[in-house]
Amino acid sequence: MPDRFAWCFDHGQMHHFAADETPWCGAAWVWLAGATEAEAMDDRASRFGEARFFDQIPHEQQYAIVTGRVPGYRMEDDDA
Ligand SMILES: [Zn+2]
Repeated sequence: MPDRFAWCFDHGQMHHFAADETPWCGAAWVWLAGATEAEAMDDRASRFGEARFFDQIPHEQQYAIVTGRVPGYRMEDDDA
């Protein structure tokens, strides 16, 4: 099984997760499409442009990530 790729808006970098690995990063990241890192970077660019960190993406996308509408890590609500 190939690695899976994710973009982390907290660390500002791509994460690689092994197929059978529980993602170790507990921050705001989203799954990227692609079988290679280059393809994953293309997917990231098409969806988020040059944004690296969470505050660089539109609020609408932030909300989608936080609420789990974009597949990835679902951040805990600190107010809960
Ligand atoms: Zn991370």
